[in-house]
Amino acid sequence: MLHVLRRIVLEVGAASNLAEALEIIVRRVKQELTIDVCSVYLREPEANGQRLLLMASEGLNPDSVGTVVMNTGEGLVGLVAERAEPVNLENAPDHPRFKYFPETGEERYHAFLGVPIIHNRRLLGVLVAQQRERRRFDDEHVAFLITLAAQLAGAISHAELIGEVGKRREEIQQDNLQIAGIPGAAGVAVGQGVVAYALADLESVPDRDAESVENEETAFREAVKEVQDELIEIKDRMEDVLPMEERLLFDAYVMMLGSDSLVNGTVDRIRGGSWAPAALRDTVRESTRNFEDMDDPYLRERASDVRDIGRRILMRLQSHVREPEEFPEHTILLGEDVTATQLAEVPPDRLAAVVSSRGTGSSHVAILARAMGIPAVMGVADLPVGRLEGRQIVVDGYRGNLYIQPTAELLEEFKHLQDEEKELAEGLRDLAQEPAITQDGVEVPVYANSGLLADIAPSIQSGADGIGLYRTEVPFMIRERFPGEDEQTQIYREILKSFNPRPVTLRTLDVGGDKALPYFPVTEDNPFLGWRGIRITLDHPEIFLTQLRAMLRASQGLSNLHILFPMISSLGELKGAMQLLQRARDELLDEHYVIPVPKVGVMVEVPSAVYLSEALARRVDFLSVGTNDLVQYLLAVDRNNPRVADLYNGLHPAVLHALDQTAQGAHRAGKTISVCGEMAADPASVILLLGMEIDALSVNVAALARVKWVIRSFSRERCRELLRQCVRMEEPAAIRALLDNALVQAGLGGLVRAGKA
Ligand code: PEP
Ligand code: MG
Repeated sequence: MLHVLRRIVLEVGAASNLAEALEIIVRRVKQELTIDVCSVYLREPEANGQRLLLMASEGLNPDSVGTVVMNTGEGLVGLVAERAEPVNLENAPDHPRFKYFPETGEERYHAFLGVPIIHNRRLLGVLVAQQRERRRFDDEHVAFLITLAAQLAGAISHAELIGEVGKRREEIQQDNLQIAGIPGAAGVAVGQGVVAYALADLESVPDRDAESVENEETAFREAVKEVQDELIEIKDRMEDVLPMEERLLFDAYVMMLGSDSLVNGTVDRIRGGSWAPAALRDTVRESTRNFEDMDDPYLRERASDVRDIGRRILMRLQSHVREPEEFPEHTILLGEDVTATQLAEVPPDRLAAVVSSRGTGSSHVAILARAMGIPAVMGVADLPVGRLEGRQIVVDGYRGNLYIQPTAELLEEFKHLQDEEKELAEGLRDLAQEPAITQDGVEVPVYANSGLLADIAPSIQSGADGIGLYRTEVPFMIRERFPGEDEQTQIYREILKSFNPRPVTLRTLDVGGDKALPYFPVTEDNPFLGWRGIRITLDHPEIFLTQLRAMLRASQGLSNLHILFPMISSLGELKGAMQLLQRARDELLDEHYVIPVPKVGVMVEVPSAVYLSEALARRVDFLSVGTNDLVQYLLAVDRNNPRVADLYNGLHPAVLHALDQTAQGAHRAGKTISVCGEMAADPASVILLLGMEIDALSVNVAALARVKWVIRSFSRERCRELLRQCVRMEEPAAIRALLDNALVQAGLGGLVRAGKA
């Protein structure tokens, strides 16, 4: 059964649209379960989901498909929908809910089994099996259909979103299509879709029209020829290594490349107007599906050979990389899993917004987008990436929505919102230059988070009191190898000099988790619980020492260097890091450099560090709380997983207790504590952080002015009082409501919306 199930899911996955997918399902299920009828009913989005439409059937009258509609309260299919559980009947017509639809011709069938299709707690439709004879379907049949329905639910939900449900066989060219995701970075943008896709990944190739059919065909034929030559060369090279029999595989590859189906199939598609990569993608899909359908296991395996060849040709086709001027003026960068590197490839003055299928507002791409002041929508699980290239798109980073091909009215509405935003930003600009002092006279410096040299000028202009978090991994990520000591020294010196005497906190390399270096891949099952941050640098003292030496050298003649260690979870790790820092300094002193003693800090972003806060603080100069990670580890919610993004909440009472306890630990040790995670940029959270007597905040440049505004609008005493009330509450939503209300009362209602993003 498992084998059959896997095959069906694979075939459905290769279907090019919903109608085709549903036809495969009903045909294959009918065949495998040897039943008389298999049908799929889906909820119609137009009718508020109250109606079910027969979308595909093998066995019922074909004319009834696309026409039979029932209310969810009607008939046996409606009963399955209502109960959201399987209904298994020996003789359906005996059941009081049986309703006869003459168009279907179903009076002949007695046995009935219906299972619900559910995605994210929402009923999408019903999968039905029917048989002439009277019988109860056995457990195996029920289990099979439930498993299949659960596996197909995601694909159906996706099709529903892109408007395929209820529009059988129609081309999807819907205007003003709205798709929901998760807010990633506040703001709105209007622009043109550009798909960022992983190189050599056929499945992520977007649809695109051929600009010149002739050029596409030539490029494709050249790529095929190059791969053929490459394979012949590999075969020759392997002569002494592999026996003849094994080497024949390469001949088979070369033959496949010359085959009609792969080459002509692709060329036909190119001549039909597609660009070469998408034509190749579809031809490979078709060909692999044919192989996968075969019963002979040897031939089934050939599917992976076709895919391999497809990837090789694609790689050749992709040797042409997009030039900066090929990005439209207002680029909306879209992708399955947009990476920081892809973001950095777009010239900043052309990047209008980012949209990613994976990730959440706490992912690093979203953080980077906030730092660049552009909106981002994350976790759009059903993003039809392949169809968005070149389309006009509105990105609403406040609510986490996208609008594809918006209507003129909607465009007008968003333009208006953009103007309002600009006004608010301008209103705050002057305020940003004022010191951040509470109404009862406590100064709470607001620093900027940064990671790019390009951020420095905006950070200075924005009125930042210094840099509270410089993510050194960013310059590492946009290079093709580890930067050397001199190269790093230069980068760090430029930042230190620009801000001197204001403090600059350079965090040591924090890769792993969702931050990969293209030239240092780390593949793990649970990367956030794995080899990350300080764990990597302690295991690679050569990399760590190079970086520490560069930081220290950069600080010659300056007095503002602060060094921060990420992901510390034990005193032992801190000791190891301090020893290496000492060693780097000793080496430099031996080399006759004059190096001031830097201030050293520890990031509190792992729960164990909360409990060790006093002990850690005693050994360093300051603590800095990384709430982005701390929240994910405290609540066991992956910061990148859109499925659980609703559970990720900095105002969770457990988080508030942990922060309060950390602040007390630092102060007992007589040291300062700052917060550099995204919570520090959320106006409601800022009130509580002030109440906890956090000494400084570090935020993305775009949020700097509003955070200062909050600080200047409250007294510390009032914040303490609000904190006292909040820690007695149990629900994050109630805490948020109380704080939003406090913001409104203080005249900061305009920030309430911004805080949610
Ligand atoms: C954090 O975890 O809060 C933090 C500031 O670090 P990063 O977001 O880079 O992991
Ligand atoms: Mg972190």
